[in-house]
Amino acid sequence: MNERIEEYRGTEYRVRSLSGASASGSGGPYRCPGCDQLVPGRSPHIVAWRDDDAEATDRRHWHTVCWANRATRGPTTRR
Ligand SMILES: [Zn+2]
Repeated sequence: MNERIEEYRGTEYRVRSLSGASASGSGGPYRCPGCDQLVPGRSPHIVAWRDDDAEATDRRHWHTVCWANRATRGPTTRR
């Protein structure tokens, strides 16, 4: 299981790297919170959700580079 815990905006997130090849049942595309662009479901990317979200109901799909740069990119939910 390629899963780890990382912090984002003071909250611990459970982070998983997806190869894209095993994205069966979740084809996407998804909206990346980092850049507000689409993430193709079949491309390698990051999926992250709050560690206290046991059901992982609010998973977010990120470009790998956007997650890596999340401290400087930030989500666009607050306008
Ligand atoms: Zn992105």
